[in-house]
Amino acid sequence: MQEQALVTATYSRRMRLRLDDGRDTDARIKGKRQKPVCGDRVTAEPISGESDWLITGILERRNALTRPNRRGEAETLAANIDLLCVVAAPRPRPDWFIVDRYLSAAELMGVEALVLLNKEDLLAENGKFGPEIEQAADDYRRVGYDFLVASAETGAGIEALAAALVDKTSILVGQSGVGKSSLINRLLERDEQRTATLSDKHREGRHTTVNSVMLDLPGGGAVIDSPGVRDYAPSITADTRVADGFPEIRERAPGCRFADCRHLQEPGCAVKAAVEDGSISERRYESYRRLVRLTADLAARRSP
Ligand code: GDP
Ligand code: ZN
Repeated sequence: MQEQALVTATYSRRMRLRLDDGRDTDARIKGKRQKPVCGDRVTAEPISGESDWLITGILERRNALTRPNRRGEAETLAANIDLLCVVAAPRPRPDWFIVDRYLSAAELMGVEALVLLNKEDLLAENGKFGPEIEQAADDYRRVGYDFLVASAETGAGIEALAAALVDKTSILVGQSGVGKSSLINRLLERDEQRTATLSDKHREGRHTTVNSVMLDLPGGGAVIDSPGVRDYAPSITADTRVADGFPEIRERAPGCRFADCRHLQEPGCAVKAAVEDGSISERRYESYRRLVRLTADLAARRSP
């Protein structure tokens, strides 16, 4: 008998499922072509005489988070996400272009996004982060993104972060070292490192590598933890419509003289006018230009 289930963990060829009646079970995949990921809804059936279930199909995905693998193909990391939480910190030095790429990935996926500045405990004596971070915070808030401030170290701001994640399936992304694992541990109200979770799995003796796991949040909702996501390089393909990844640019594009305006050098460009009068942030606009160039380079490499 077929049932529907949620994929809550993936190992090499095995999965953990949560059936719709709340039971958890191990499962394997029928055939080699399907590759369910955390967050997928699947159909599955019991196998007689075994504890494993068999995954027979993947239901249509609302969205999928992908990244380019070593061969440059899009690899799916997680599916059916509600919120992409882009984490930055005073140290390592924030790369706002990376933050903007993650945000544009969320826009292109049609997924809600917010920016979280972690390591609030490192702020300067005057209670400020310095002009660069203050400016970035202002830029993001003006576009309409929530910009939260927290510390995984002291617990400051964790309640507000937890509130933003409630009843959603979220993913934390961002440069390595910004504190994503530490934030997840805080959110789960656990203090052991993620490696402890991994060794639990080793003790079971069957699962070797955990690719990805969906962790239930105490207040409801879940956060997907995946090494792939933690190293995530936002996927940009040669056909990416870069302007769609920037709400403030997308919004003004209908005001441009030319319908195919790329908002670079074209006359009568409403976007450039907004940059000049200060209503679009110069820094965000520069991120847009860099992403346009990157996309063009990829297109050129694909069709020499
Ligand atoms: P990830 O690579 O994004 O998962 O980052 P980690 O969670 O591994 O954290 C990287 C480093 O930053 C570790 O040494 C953490 O102890 C430290 N760290 C994480 N959160 C905070 C914080 O809020 N304040 C400070 N001062 N350090 C933090
Ligand atoms: Zn334009």
